[in-house]
Amino acid sequence: MKKYTTFKLQYLIMGVAFLAVFLTSLVSIWSGYRMNEKTLTENTLETHRVYAEKLASSANGYLEETFKLLNVNATEMSAYMDDGERLERKADLLRRGSTAFNSIIVMNAKGKIIATSPQSLNLKGIKVTSRASKKALEERKPMISKPYKTTTSGREIIFISTPIYDANNRFLGVLGGTIYLKENNVLNQLLGKHPYEDGSYAYVVDADGQIIYHEDKTRIGDNVMKNTVVKKMLTTDSETGAERVVNTKNTDMLVGYAKMEISGWGVITQRPTELALAPAGEMVNHMMLVGLPLLLLALVIVIMLARKIAKPLQELADITVVDRDEADAAQKNFQSVTAWYYEAIQLKQSLMSSFSHLHNQVHFFRDQSATDALTGLTNRRTIDELMNSWHIEQRMYSLILIDIDKFKSINDTYGHGVGDEVLQFLARKMENVARSEDVCCRYGGEEFVILLPNTPSDIAMTMAELLRQDVESTAAPHAIQVTLSAGVATFPVDAHHPKQLLEKADDALYYAKEHGRNQVILAK
Ligand code: GH3
Ligand code: MG
Ligand code: MG
Repeated sequence: MKKYTTFKLQYLIMGVAFLAVFLTSLVSIWSGYRMNEKTLTENTLETHRVYAEKLASSANGYLEETFKLLNVNATEMSAYMDDGERLERKADLLRRGSTAFNSIIVMNAKGKIIATSPQSLNLKGIKVTSRASKKALEERKPMISKPYKTTTSGREIIFISTPIYDANNRFLGVLGGTIYLKENNVLNQLLGKHPYEDGSYAYVVDADGQIIYHEDKTRIGDNVMKNTVVKKMLTTDSETGAERVVNTKNTDMLVGYAKMEISGWGVITQRPTELALAPAGEMVNHMMLVGLPLLLLALVIVIMLARKIAKPLQELADITVVDRDEADAAQKNFQSVTAWYYEAIQLKQSLMSSFSHLHNQVHFFRDQSATDALTGLTNRRTIDELMNSWHIEQRMYSLILIDIDKFKSINDTYGHGVGDEVLQFLARKMENVARSEDVCCRYGGEEFVILLPNTPSDIAMTMAELLRQDVESTAAPHAIQVTLSAGVATFPVDAHHPKQLLEKADDALYYAKEHGRNQVILAK
């Protein structure tokens, strides 16, 4: 047989309830987390998209202003292009008067530098070599250069320039300003300080995807065209937007972007996703902290309920009936079980009724096995058991062994049925004579025994004699005249063992039969 672990109902209920509570909490925390994460992601993306747009628009505005400023100054300078000192003063004013440029350069139509600010650049008189300057001279229109490294100072710069024309629209040269990309510049001022102190930052790429502004100056000059967002912004019509991407440094980022009109540059503002989603994790902690006391309370209630539900069933299960003496106690125990819900009440009632049915059945069969069916007296088995137990107790008792005289002829004359009636008649007579503590028994056929506890032989003789006289003087059914013979023996006077005692009584009975019947003889 396979052995199964048995669980108590109480613990099963608790287990199921715990599991339900645990899973519900888990699901609600998880879905709460996911919701929060989604909202945070969406909000951060939108914030950064708007912010990138705003930065792009203000940088654009700055470039427009810059061109205006250069134009105004170029118009003015056209009047004194051969006055180097005046040009220099003007260049100084222009540089100091606005934050737009790190340096100013004026060149004539032949590409010779005729004024600089600061003068410390020491470029005056030199012919320009950079592609940006040459292009400005050739094209003769406002320009923003690609970032490049100067041959003289080795700086990373951007050159913003406008042509100088005189009143007759004759090309006189170029007025240009530079932005030193790796030094404190206007882009720093525009983009460097932003309202979010939360790990967010912005950077700017030129139309080729090269970084021209970044918080981390070492990254200026890197080309990040590989970045999906940068690529999308610079190569498609999508001028502004927001996305979650893994950047070129393998960091998961929430990114907003916007392209600038005039320059074709792009502004990117972003925040590491991990930082943006941190509040979702905090929310989980918070939920657990707030939920824990409620959870514990729920568990206590569950335990109490489980106990209450399991209690009646447990009590019913604990009642075990061992023997007859405990039967009444068990019945009482059933009654004391407090069944308070349908199944327990039904179970209790059916257990009680089947138990009492069983109880009656047991009594019935015990009586059956101890009773003689014809006469209702006890049978031989009971007498033998009694004699054995009295023998063990060494209790004094007397025994009357009775046999009907010439019963065979009654049977022969009146039939077996009438014989049975005579046996029943004798049984009633025996019961009449016997006292409450005496035991009357049909020992077999038409032989009977009366056991008389704590009774000496003389009293037993008297009682046997009374019975004999009563039977002799009363007419049996169908007016038949019946007599009996009896032998009387007493334990432990006549014998020390039940078997010997019966033999003694039988000897006495035999003697009575031999000596004329219808008499009682005391054993010798
Ligand atoms: P005695 O005076 O010597 O005892 O003569 P008796 O005829 O009674 O002889 P015995 O005791 O040997 O006879 C017993 C008879 O009792 C034999 C049997 O037919 C009859 N008998 C035994 N059991 C029953 C019974 O249950 N019903 C009936 N009707 N007769 C029975
Ligand atoms: Mg007989
Ligand atoms: Mg007989």
